[in-house]
Amino acid sequence: MTGWSLRCSRCGHLSPGDVAQWRCPRCGGVLAIDPPLRLDPAAIASDDPTLWRYAAVLPAARPRRTLGEGMTPLVAGELDGEPVWFKLDFSLPTGSFKDRGASVLVASLAAAGVRCLTVDSSGNAAAAFAAYAALHGLEARVFAPAGTSAEKLLQARAYGALVELVAGPRETVAAAAQAAARVPGRVYASHNWHPIFVEGTKTWLLEVWEQLGRRWPAACFVPVGGGSLLVGAELAVGALDGRAGGPLLVAAQPAACAPLARAWERGSDEVDPLPPGETLAEGARIGAPPRGALLLAALRRSGGWPEAVPEPVLRETVRLLWRQGLYVEPTAGLGAAAYRLARRRGWEPAGPVVVLLTGSGLKTAAAARELLEEA
Ligand SMILES: [Zn+2]
Repeated sequence: MTGWSLRCSRCGHLSPGDVAQWRCPRCGGVLAIDPPLRLDPAAIASDDPTLWRYAAVLPAARPRRTLGEGMTPLVAGELDGEPVWFKLDFSLPTGSFKDRGASVLVASLAAAGVRCLTVDSSGNAAAAFAAYAALHGLEARVFAPAGTSAEKLLQARAYGALVELVAGPRETVAAAAQAAARVPGRVYASHNWHPIFVEGTKTWLLEVWEQLGRRWPAACFVPVGGGSLLVGAELAVGALDGRAGGPLLVAAQPAACAPLARAWERGSDEVDPLPPGETLAEGARIGAPPRGALLLAALRRSGGWPEAVPEPVLRETVRLLWRQGLYVEPTAGLGAAAYRLARRRGWEPAGPVVVLLTGSGLKTAAAARELLEEA
C-alpha cells in the first residue's frame, strides 16, 4: 500500500510517511501509521506461505527475495495437563520473532533507496536486521553495549554487519546508533521505536487467526520487553475487526523487570521507568518501554493484564518446554510461565489459548547449561 502518513501517539502531530522518521519530529513521541491499515480478508494472498501474504495491509510491497519468513507453525501442546496452542516464532529464519518487524522494515528501506541502517541491540534484533540487510544489499551497523558476549554478536557479524561496542548505559548505546544514522542514505532502524517495525510484528496474530480457521483465540500469552508483539496484536485486531473483539492479551515480563505490572498495581495509565534487575529473560530487560502507555491501554481494552514472572517459575517452565521438544531461549518461556501462574490462581480460559514462543534456545547456550546443571 502507498500514501500513508505518521501520527504521533502523544501530541497527535501528523507528518508525511517517511521511512527515516522513527519518532515524532515535534515532541519525540511514538509514531503510528495513519490512518490505521485495514485488511479485507479477500486480499490475503493465500498461496504465499510467508508473512507477505498480508502485503495488502503492510507498508511495504512484497520484495522480490525473502527468507521465507512467516507462517510459523501453530502446534497443539499442553501445560500442566491443559491444552494450549504453541506459536513457534523461534522457527523464523534468524531464530526469533524479530524477523517479522525487520523483514518488513528493511524491505521498505531498500525500496526507498536507503543504503545503510543502524541499530542498537545485543541480540535478536541485531541478528534479524543484519540478515535482512544482507538479503537486500544494505550495510548494517550494529551498536551493542560493551560487555556483550562475543558469542551473542556472532550471528550478526556472520551476516556481514559491522559491530561496534559502546561503553555506558543502554541509552548511550541507542544514542550512538542514532548519531551514526544522521547521514544521508542512512536510517536508524529501531526495533523499539520504528512504526514500520510494529506493522511487521502484527503478522503473528493475523497468522494465528488464519490457522485457527479465521477465528480469534480466547487468550494469548506474550513475552514483553519493548512490547512490539503486543502493539502488533493491537494492530492485527484493528486491521480485521476494528477495536471490538480480538483475544484477551497477557503481557509476560520477568518479575525482575516488570514496569507494566508496577504501573498496573498503581492503577496508572503511564509506565514509570525502572532499573532492570537480573533475570535469565535478558530479552525482556527493558525498564522504560517507549510504548508503555499504549501497552497498558492494549491490555485494558483486551480484558487482559500484565503478569510478573518470578525467576524460579520461569526456569521450571523453560525446562518443561524443552521436555516437549520446544528448545526456546529463557525469554521465550515468559508467556508459558505467565499462563501457568494464571491457571494456578484459578483463571479459566473461555476458549483456545495461544502461547507465543519467541526465540530459539540455540542462541543462549550458556543459559541452557545453567538451567540443566541446576535441574
Ligand atoms: Zn508528538
